[in-house]
Amino acid sequence: MNNGPYLGKRYHTLDYFFKQKFGTKIAKISLSGGFTCPNRDGSKGVGGCIYCSDKLSGDFAGNPAYSVKSQFDEIKSIMNKKWKNTSYMAYFQTGTGTYAPVSRLRELYKAAVDCDDVVALSIATRADCISKDCYALLEEISKKTFLTVELGLQSVHDKTGKVINRCSTYADFLSAFNTLKSLGINVCVHLINGLPYEDKSMMMESVCRMNELMPWSVKLHLLHVIKGTVCEQLYNAGTLKVFEKDEYVSLICDQLEQLDSRIVIQRLTGDGKRDELVAPLWSIKKFEVLNAIDAEMYRRNTVQGALCSLSM
Ligand code: SF4
Repeated sequence: MNNGPYLGKRYHTLDYFFKQKFGTKIAKISLSGGFTCPNRDGSKGVGGCIYCSDKLSGDFAGNPAYSVKSQFDEIKSIMNKKWKNTSYMAYFQTGTGTYAPVSRLRELYKAAVDCDDVVALSIATRADCISKDCYALLEEISKKTFLTVELGLQSVHDKTGKVINRCSTYADFLSAFNTLKSLGINVCVHLINGLPYEDKSMMMESVCRMNELMPWSVKLHLLHVIKGTVCEQLYNAGTLKVFEKDEYVSLICDQLEQLDSRIVIQRLTGDGKRDELVAPLWSIKKFEVLNAIDAEMYRRNTVQGALCSLSM
């Protein structure tokens, strides 16, 4: 149905990027380095971002009680049943992936890239939590391995940053983003649609700003209301509204049409655990959401970046 230019998709998928670059499928393995977060331990803030669960945004990552290699091998043995002869991107997803002494970071990152069939490393972190020594380590790794650093921006609007208790600013983000780019490191920018008090024009602006910055990749996340978070309290109090499925699909297609086609799309919705998700429950059926996005792109006969020159 989709007959799009990116292996049948109408947006520049990570799968397409990796197949062009490595000639094969690259599967992602989420690991836990046992990182905490400066937005929870008091050094930047307390309580964390209002949507973040006590799993520190790592619901599907390995168990930090085990070594990086053990976590990797266990998840790989499961993935091998689905994909034979694939290569892997090791992904430090949980907590703030640069929040440790640089000697410890070196050990963890090395253990990850040394795992069998790993060809890429991804590290999720906060823009305000990368030390000078850490930048040097990241630059060193990026010269040997395909490296991407994922910066959790969520929104370009600082007033939203305050609402979500991000405890860092857009200026912090720009500083880290520009430093990483100047070192030749691929940056993935993590954005969330549906944050409290954001309207459509604000969400579109966050995406359109990416065309000026030109990160290697973006993740567009749907806000998930998770049990035990401040978002759950806001949702139960009626202060926080969540998307209907059709509304979200339409927004994502609008954002894709505005986004420069060179930017790789890593994600268009969220991955929530069924027993922890409060809303929106339709998002549990992730493949139905992705199929609906494909169908809407087809109905519009459009592709990523089709309206990029008209960006706001
Ligand atoms: S910075 Fe990341 S890990 Fe820390 S509280 Fe926010 S979402 Fe959670």
